[in-house]
Amino acid sequence: MALRFYNTLTQQVEPFAPLHDNTVRMYTCGPTVYNYVHIGNLRTFTFQDILRRWLRARGYQLDHVMNITDVEDKIIRNASAEHKSIAEYTEKYTQAFLEDTATLRLERPERLVKATDHITDMVEAIQKLAAREYTYTSDGSVYYRISKFHGYGKLSHNDFSGIRAGARVDVDEYDKANARDFVLWKAAKNGEPSWDSAIGPGRPGWHIECSVMAMKYLGETLDIHAGGVDLIFPHHENEIAQSEALTSKPFARFWLHSEFLNVEAQKMSKSAGNFYTLRDLLGMGYAPEVVRYLLASVPYRKKLNFTFDGLKAAATAIDRLRNFKLRLETDRFPEGANQKLEERTQAAARQFGESLDDDLNTAEALAALFEYVRDANTSMDSGEFRAGNVPSALELLNEFDRIFDVLRPSGDHAGLTDAQVEQHIAERAQAKKNREFARADQIRKQLLEAGIILEDTKEGTRWKRK
Ligand code: AMP
Ligand code: ZN
Repeated sequence: MALRFYNTLTQQVEPFAPLHDNTVRMYTCGPTVYNYVHIGNLRTFTFQDILRRWLRARGYQLDHVMNITDVEDKIIRNASAEHKSIAEYTEKYTQAFLEDTATLRLERPERLVKATDHITDMVEAIQKLAAREYTYTSDGSVYYRISKFHGYGKLSHNDFSGIRAGARVDVDEYDKANARDFVLWKAAKNGEPSWDSAIGPGRPGWHIECSVMAMKYLGETLDIHAGGVDLIFPHHENEIAQSEALTSKPFARFWLHSEFLNVEAQKMSKSAGNFYTLRDLLGMGYAPEVVRYLLASVPYRKKLNFTFDGLKAAATAIDRLRNFKLRLETDRFPEGANQKLEERTQAAARQFGESLDDDLNTAEALAALFEYVRDANTSMDSGEFRAGNVPSALELLNEFDRIFDVLRPSGDHAGLTDAQVEQHIAERAQAKKNREFARADQIRKQLLEAGIILEDTKEGTRWKRK
């Protein structure tokens, strides 16, 4: 079966292909740069990275836009508390975001765009909405009249038909019990940053930026729009209301939403104070790829319960795969190729791909890979695994790593882990016992190349790093 995704708009799993040519036009809501991102945020961005990589693996090109929200209620509050301009304040956290996502090996979207670079575009869009009578002004602020948009509620599947017309809300975030006419342009207030414009001095509300930047770069109808489930309402519902009122065309064909990362059954969030940043976890000695593995391993529509045991299990899983790869690269296997094993490798590759085609079922894809690794290890131990089986096994690992990207050790963690070193030493001892001295020497040499020095003593082999 072909590539398919669960679409929040239709509440169905649907086959996916881009509308025009081979390029997927995708928009994802980026960070609000008022603080360091936590690993809950990063779960959502990791899902989007897996999505990007799998779309490419299936032969598509990408035009992916992500916004940086650099003007917003929380930013204004925090910047003012630190006596900084919002530009100065957000620059620091924008850089931190770029660093953290690079550390986590998240690909950069084709375009990263800032809200404050698009104020004029937003003002023009609001003027157009006004010309179509979707807006009204009150105390210098401009509001969107939701009763005028008949599809309001179609993404979140809420019935808002009974909502009181004319009730307004000025804040960027609110829940569905408080669905109201939302603000497009906030009148300038003392002590707050504002822009002079044809619709008066003020600043944009949060929702208009995404409609405007998405359509500016990607056209009126996107292939995919994605974000965390908390954005379905009001943010994405409002994006649809704004965009479709402007164009009378469907705004996005596929809406993909990732579930929360939870801590003890509660959403990880800044406001709950139950969060870890990537920097926290690195400081505790976890490698970035371990965090990446954990975030990617749970299918994106399932809640991910964050625990340190989960992180440790991720580290063990990566070690197993690295050991398997090392074995493929360094063990000497008998000549020839085992046809049955070749078929086993092909079957694993197929299961891996079919699982990701199935709405990015990463858990099943990993299960297929680990079952294969177990079988291959067994056949290596029994001597059935042949030299001719190595290339396809390595190719399967490469295919896995083009998506999951965890096999390469990063930074300080470069080289072999202690457990890996111990394993090679044990293997060398066994080789000596079997009087396979050439093999034992080979292992010593390989370890030396990896910066590990062995010293044979009466008590056994000791080792240290160069
Ligand atoms: P924000 O910077 O708050 O706008 O959030 C950036 C992204 O992270 C959005 O797509 C949110 O939906 C997502 N997000 C926030 N908290 C969590 C969480 N605990 N788990 C998963 N995603 C989250
Ligand atoms: Zn958005």
